[in-house]
Amino acid sequence: MNQIEHRAAKTELSPGELARYSRHLILPEIGVEGQRRLKEARVLCIGAGGLGSPAALYLASAGVGTLGIVDPDDVDLTNLHRQILYGTKDVGRSKLKSAHDRLHDANPNIDIELHNCRFSSENAQDLVERYDIVVDGSDNFPTRYLSNDVCVWARKPNIYGSVFRFDGQSTVFAPHLDGPCYRCLFPEPPPAGSVPNCAEAGVLGVLPGIIGMIQATEAIKLILDTGDPLVGRLLHYDALKMKFREFNLKRDPECPVCGEEPTITSPIDYEQFCGMNAGAEAVAAATAIPAISVSDLKHKIDQKNPMVILDVREKFEYEIARIEGSQLIPLDELPDRISELDPNAEIVAFCHTGMRSARAVQFLQGHGYKRSFNLAGGIDAWAHEIDPTMQKY
Ligand SMILES: [Zn+2]
Repeated sequence: MNQIEHRAAKTELSPGELARYSRHLILPEIGVEGQRRLKEARVLCIGAGGLGSPAALYLASAGVGTLGIVDPDDVDLTNLHRQILYGTKDVGRSKLKSAHDRLHDANPNIDIELHNCRFSSENAQDLVERYDIVVDGSDNFPTRYLSNDVCVWARKPNIYGSVFRFDGQSTVFAPHLDGPCYRCLFPEPPPAGSVPNCAEAGVLGVLPGIIGMIQATEAIKLILDTGDPLVGRLLHYDALKMKFREFNLKRDPECPVCGEEPTITSPIDYEQFCGMNAGAEAVAAATAIPAISVSDLKHKIDQKNPMVILDVREKFEYEIARIEGSQLIPLDELPDRISELDPNAEIVAFCHTGMRSARAVQFLQGHGYKRSFNLAGGIDAWAHEIDPTMQKY
């Protein structure tokens, strides 16, 4: 953080900035010197979603002088219950443009650098090099491993956050500050498809707000070089119990990235590392759950192939969007209602993205329904590939 201090010594705050940040300036831990540091700090937010929204808003309002945001997505209706950077008018617009408008309104004194791309092995090192601190608001394993590795190599703090249903956690990965990195804790990713995402598992809308603000707080403390950073400590938050718990984290001397004899020293293929490249057939082979693609299902429907299209989603999801001619039996009700299905029929089960229906097919196969298949990618893939007019969620 010496570079920030060095740059801050050469900067000034205008009368307008002094007034804007007066509630900061009056804090002895910040003062004019600290506010200058904030002005000269450069923070990269990976993702402008549930975590990135509150983090970027507070960092902008706090006067962090340069905010970089990486996100290739457009605003979706289902984002709005938690991604507070956006409003209903932004649905369908690029997240970057919408975020820029909102952040610029929050604080026109700062520079907002928009990176309209996915954070990838090709661009990650170049991007991270340009910033002092990384706030990782990503929601997938390949990006987490990538941001971790790149931050370790560049000696930049990587402020981690994640949310799941009613639980969230945050820590600061920084081996150069004697803390562990993400790989010290998780040397191997979980098997592909074993951890449901927000779309499958759900998430309390407030939760990423709280975790994203913890990430922003840690970024500000690191910039100011004040307080005790969340290095070597994982803060876990349980919204239902309303409890925070803290776990001490240790570095792994044999960590392949930050250990004594690192074996990974440049970006790898993170999608492959996390098993994300496996197609429907590969996943089916690995899990022994037979699957068909949405285009195969469309073909069967067009050929008037006799079959049952089994929807195992919840009733509210059926009301958002449905595949014509499908039969709704929510997964939880399947054991009690299995007799409604003909054991000799061909059954194609689907859900939102294919995880619940995989369990349904496993159950059906185990009960003698040998001609049952999982629809790979679920109704989400159907909406993307077969029927673009379908309401996505
Ligand atoms: Zn490590």
